[in-house]
Amino acid sequence: MNKSELLSLFSSDYEKYYKVSLFEKLGFIRQSCSICSRFFWAIPQRSICPDHENYTFIGNPPTSRRFSYTQTWEKIRDYFKENGHTIVNRYPVVCRWRDDLYYTIASIVDFQRVADNKVMFELPGNPLVVPQMCLRFNDIENVGVTGRHYTSFCMVGQTCDADSKGGYWKDRCIELDFGLLVDIFGIPPAEITFVEDVWIGAGAFGSSLEYFVRGLELGNAVFTEFEGNEKNHRVLKNKIIDMGAGLERLSWITNGTPTSYDCTFEPILKRIYDTSGIDNPFSSNGNFNFQSKILSDYFSRISAKLESTSDVLQVKKQLAQELSIDFEKLQKIVVPYESLYTIIDHTRTLVFAISDGSLPSNVGGGYNLRVILRRTLSLLKQLGLGLKVGDIVDMHLDQLQPLYPELMDYRNDIHEVLEIESKRFLETQERIVAISTKIKKGKTMLSLDDLIRLYESDGSHLIIWLKMHFESVPANFYTRLSELHSTSRSEKRDKNGIQFG
Ligand SMILES: [Zn+2]
Repeated sequence: MNKSELLSLFSSDYEKYYKVSLFEKLGFIRQSCSICSRFFWAIPQRSICPDHENYTFIGNPPTSRRFSYTQTWEKIRDYFKENGHTIVNRYPVVCRWRDDLYYTIASIVDFQRVADNKVMFELPGNPLVVPQMCLRFNDIENVGVTGRHYTSFCMVGQTCDADSKGGYWKDRCIELDFGLLVDIFGIPPAEITFVEDVWIGAGAFGSSLEYFVRGLELGNAVFTEFEGNEKNHRVLKNKIIDMGAGLERLSWITNGTPTSYDCTFEPILKRIYDTSGIDNPFSSNGNFNFQSKILSDYFSRISAKLESTSDVLQVKKQLAQELSIDFEKLQKIVVPYESLYTIIDHTRTLVFAISDGSLPSNVGGGYNLRVILRRTLSLLKQLGLGLKVGDIVDMHLDQLQPLYPELMDYRNDIHEVLEIESKRFLETQERIVAISTKIKKGKTMLSLDDLIRLYESDGSHLIIWLKMHFESVPANFYTRLSELHSTSRSEKRDKNGIQFG
């Protein structure tokens, strides 16, 4: 079944699929986007859907409340607890209970049990909320660049079985999510837009409502209602609500910092700014200097632009023009922050993955860890911060202790694994420079495939060399590497043709 066909089918019967009681009660108007024709619900009249909007909350958040990353979780936890939800501890990021996944990629995965090609749900509470760390390696290139992409992020999962005791359906779900934004975060109702969408999984599907504030998608409430396919389907005996919202984004919307990394990693960044040569662009009592002004303008625009193209370099050149700044000068301002955000993101991913028993290696999911560790080490070297990856591990553990106290038990293991891997990397570095210089002699430019073959066959790190010889690593290099190593399991899943039951 085709996603857009299903969407028009559901949208043609919007009273049934999308009109929740809150919309009626508060006078939300159903509108169609003048650019992409998608339907959305908002109190004020708007001509376009949030997909095409810049991030207008940057430098100007829609609320006077400011919540740090860990505070944001505490607010969410208390709110849902008061509203009758069981708060569940996170599940491991290493997804051992599913044969088709290496890592937990979404909160709903926690509760899915696959047997005989059927997915069953096992909910330890109904309704429940879980702060689930998720690992995703399909967007590595965007990490540090868009202001909102991560290889590991916390998906706040609000999950319920609508047809079992304690369960609820669309009206109550949207009422709760709206209440969180308005009553807890202090966001005015007129700022919130709900976009009609659909979700199609293996053997099941349903409608969904994505909610946005000032161009930023905060969450997506999926209503898994049917099993089967378009031609032959029936209503599930136990309909499932799967609302997922990014903790990083919820904290970001209250702070309005240039990137979500600035608030997600705030205590870590502060320590690095204090001890390294990198300026804290936001230290001066909220008064933006030239550099922080450029960063804010830059990050408020780049995401919407990357929705329509994946050519980051092209987008950056375009932005330099828009901001009336020389491209090279823009790069000089932006790139160190991108690198720093990437280092911190990748290190956090390693903290969770190693704690939960995954190791950097040349096979399976371990390969992704090796790729991000090598990338982290080369970026650290380039930035010349005088910091080791282990130092950043400790900063993460300090910050995450209130949220995930179990990580503290693995501090020594994480250090040990990273030291061994880092040593291996440094030992091969010189050898690689020699080999690659030899290859370079014969060619003026290597293709992306050449590079991937080299990286694969040698099993060591070429990036430093690449940076020495070319302006930057070719676009999509890391994503392609990750794809090469992650296809086997997803192929397996596709062949399985899992049915929901
Ligand atoms: Zn649109």
